[in-house]
Amino acid sequence: MTAPLETETHGEEKPRQRFTLDETGFDEVPPQYRRFYRKWGGPPDKLSANEALCPVCKVVIRSMQELREGDRLYCMPCMSRLVVVREDGMLLAKVVY
Ligand SMILES: [Zn+2]
Repeated sequence: MTAPLETETHGEEKPRQRFTLDETGFDEVPPQYRRFYRKWGGPPDKLSANEALCPVCKVVIRSMQELREGDRLYCMPCMSRLVVVREDGMLLAKVVY
């Protein structure tokens, strides 16, 4: 597993916006995965279209592609499997049991 986003994203109707991920200084995962996560700065910290907050460990998961409802994510810091849902017009990650 190389990236948190586990959904197949090719062949979709609307192409997804792509993002370049920079080093975030997040050090709770091995170096090659660090750019996929960052610490959340609390409610004023707005997430961009390629980011989702892990409800378990409050770490922001970052994808190289725009996230959409139904996407499956893996949070390496707490080993949770998450699914992206839309609630009140916002994208949120929920734990998959
Ligand atoms: Zn987590």
